[in-house]
Amino acid sequence: MERSEGQRGVAVNDGVFWQGGDPRWDTVRSITPLTRTIRADVCVIGGGFTGLWSALSLKKLAGELDVVLVEQTYCGHGASGRNGGWLNAWDDILPTLTGLYGHSDALAVLDLSHRSLSDLTQVVSDGAIDCDLAMGGGLIVATTEAQLGGLLETVAGMEAAGRGSLVRVLSAEEARQMSGISEASGGYLLEHAGSVQPALLAQGLRRLVEAAGVQVFEASPMVKLHREAPAVVDTLAGSVIADQIILACGSWLARVSELRRTLFIIPTHVIATEPCEDELDALGWTQGRPFADARTAVHYAQRTADHRMVFGRGGGRLGFAGRIIPEHFHDRRETQEIAADMQRMMPTLKSARVDWAWGGPIDRSQHGMPWVGGIGRHRNIHYGVGYAGNGVVPSHVIGRTLASVTLGLDDDYSRSPLVSDPPSYLPIEPIRSAGARLVRGAVIRCEEREDAGRVPDPASRALRRALGLSMPKGVQVAPLAERVTRMTTFARRRESGGAQGADEHGQAFDSTTHSGGSDPE
Ligand SMILES: Cc1cc2nc3c(=O)[nH]c(=O)nc-3n(C[C@H](O)[C@H](O)[C@H](O)COP(=O)(O)OP(=O)(O)OC[C@H]3O[C@@H](n4cnc5c(N)ncnc54)[C@H](O)[C@@H]3O)c2cc1C
Repeated sequence: MERSEGQRGVAVNDGVFWQGGDPRWDTVRSITPLTRTIRADVCVIGGGFTGLWSALSLKKLAGELDVVLVEQTYCGHGASGRNGGWLNAWDDILPTLTGLYGHSDALAVLDLSHRSLSDLTQVVSDGAIDCDLAMGGGLIVATTEAQLGGLLETVAGMEAAGRGSLVRVLSAEEARQMSGISEASGGYLLEHAGSVQPALLAQGLRRLVEAAGVQVFEASPMVKLHREAPAVVDTLAGSVIADQIILACGSWLARVSELRRTLFIIPTHVIATEPCEDELDALGWTQGRPFADARTAVHYAQRTADHRMVFGRGGGRLGFAGRIIPEHFHDRRETQEIAADMQRMMPTLKSARVDWAWGGPIDRSQHGMPWVGGIGRHRNIHYGVGYAGNGVVPSHVIGRTLASVTLGLDDDYSRSPLVSDPPSYLPIEPIRSAGARLVRGAVIRCEEREDAGRVPDPASRALRRALGLSMPKGVQVAPLAERVTRMTTFARRRESGGAQGADEHGQAFDSTTHSGGSDPE
């Protein structure tokens, strides 16, 4: 293929390819802000997948409900419109689920994720959402012996739980042929997985939500939440008085005082190359079969419908006390490193120009699973959060669960172990940031040594085990981190600085203002 000289790691556009580079993304549609006070049965805050699925589920379960959704910028602005597009159920975290919830609840939770995968594909097809959804399986590849050992342990755990048929183990040769990565030492294919153009999925869901009768107000950041009954949501220019509230603000929920110490906000960054059909064909990549390796700071990728490589990596600069910072959206150093990683793993892509580069924040709790909880003393404010970078299908599980909890239904969703108190509270700052930096350094050291075929030092290994920073698959329980948390709980104190006013990333609401609810800090 003839093309201009590749620019190593320097993106032509600092922006989200799914939005800026796909002509199907509607950049000129009208946006309606909230400019008055209105009444609703339920007010959903946040127009990502969690909020959109919650609103849609509410209308499906109780069509007569008056549902309003307010979004600070536009639907799909957050992680939902900028992710890697992996579509997968919780198959290969079954061993982790078993450790967290016990055998039978783990299988029930796994089953919910399968129901969601099938509901999602059904909604896409019934609603004629044009979002390149394709289900070709999910390719997980090990590039070191240590990674291979971890993958085989996962498969053994799935077999022990009676769900071994959800994965197909790949030989080194098969993994090499399917990924084009010469160091591949083996892997597995998740049989029920695929990929999607995520921003178009968000755009299509927004359309369906409106068609179902939900009033959607964009450019309407919640700036204050009054924890009363009914609750009151103040936006910049209006208010919603609602009996029930669903907080679906993704990583921005770390600004809610009750949740501030439950979430790590970790960035992940992505690049998209120019179209390179011949190279991707030669590497064995097909659209609808996304890729991830087995590193802790995982690489993940998909071939787009227009033959680009979209390639991402977990990790990057943490914001102090869970803050979302500009580097979570654009970080030139991360972009350059990710482009270099891609070119090292697949040297034939060396000449492919990097056209787009972007990032986004990820909400992660210590146990790495999302959960649905409530705040305030009136039991009328619900939230769902904690996807740890695997949220495209799980946000349907959580959205559907939020609908059940909001409606007071007694069903598989409201009874699942995903409905819980926060799994744990993180250490206060600056201990939290210092600990996170320590773990991040240990992860990098471990993986550099493993890449070189060497065994990492025991201290770094222990620290890596303490906090699994993996995405979009794989969660690990954090025994050491939990011990650190317990040791520091006596020192609990209010962290300084509630976010006041909005910055360019819509870090907007003073959610510390509340009447009634108690602050766990
Ligand atoms: C770069 C990246 C790659 C990823 N890759 C994958 C992947 O390949 N597969 C996968 O399964 N998952 C992936 N994820 C994770 C997945 O995208 C998320 O878990 C999921 O989209 C979370 O959806 P959400 O609705 O909870 O959050 P979001 O999509 O972030 O939505 C929250 C919304 O709330 C709005 N909001 C915030 N504060 C306010 C306020 N005060 N008032 C009103 N609105 C507000 C925001 O603007 C935003 O639109 C990735 C995430 C990122 C960032």
